[in-house]
Amino acid sequence: SPKLAVRGVGKRYRLNGGKTIDAVHDVSFDVMEGEICALLGPSGCGKSTVLRMVAGLEDPSSGAMFLDNAQIDGPHKSRGMVFQRYTSFDWMTVQKNVEYGMKINGVSKADRGAQADHFIQMIQLSKFKNAYPCQLSGGMQQRVAIARTLANGPSILLMDEPFGALDAETKWQMQELMISIVETSKVTVLIVTHDIEEAIFLADRIIFMSRHPGTVRENMVTEFKDG
Ligand code: ADP
Ligand code: ADP
Repeated sequence: SPKLAVRGVGKRYRLNGGKTIDAVHDVSFDVMEGEICALLGPSGCGKSTVLRMVAGLEDPSSGAMFLDNAQIDGPHKSRGMVFQRYTSFDWMTVQKNVEYGMKINGVSKADRGAQADHFIQMIQLSKFKNAYPCQLSGGMQQRVAIARTLANGPSILLMDEPFGALDAETKWQMQELMISIVETSKVTVLIVTHDIEEAIFLADRIIFMSRHPGTVRENMVTEFKDG
């Protein structure tokens, strides 16, 4: 069975004045255990809305979603989210950011130090573990956010245009690092992007979302394995 199952999900927003907008309409797809799955489509087609619903940050207007066969209902640490900007805490060092993630995951204080090292090595910031995020480049800050989120022990990592604010060179480095992180941590990833090159480079499978009315075109689901 799939890790994540999205079944006939829709989202209708009510705007000021009573007009409604169907941001997402009848979307269904699966994400399998251990894969990097990209949700690809043009700006405004509803990708972020789908991801926020999977994260439990918003409720669907119709349909349902299941993680490990359990229906998604509200936010939970089993679904870690990384946004385009700023998910690291500026008032905590790199080390403390990662330890905070572990605290949420119930890791005892005594064990946090050693385990933090593992995550900090994974994002290649050992030399900067006592630095504050504001002292680091955008790419490094994003690595801290990824490590802190992984330290929560999520069952699936949700990423919303995570490298969209970075320059091209940093973006490539981050994409390569991301692949090695997934190999090390065996986490399942659902990444939202409008960047087809990013999707092809990163993803085992790409789910195309069309612009209107935001339906996933199942017939266009394409598999990419080993690049
Ligand atoms: P994407 O991530 O593909 O760019 P979004 O999910 O952000 O698309 O948005 C899909 C559509 O829903 C857009 O037309 C957007 O303006 C609209 N939308 C998103 N969030 C809201 C909201 N909170 N209220 C009203 N409309 C929204
Ligand atoms: P890098 O040094 O890795 O090339 P920068 O720090 O120059 O990245 O970031 C590029 C742009 O994106 C800048 O305008 C910066 O303000 C913005 N930016 C990058 N990361 C973040 C972040 N986490 N929060 C807010 N803005 C960011």
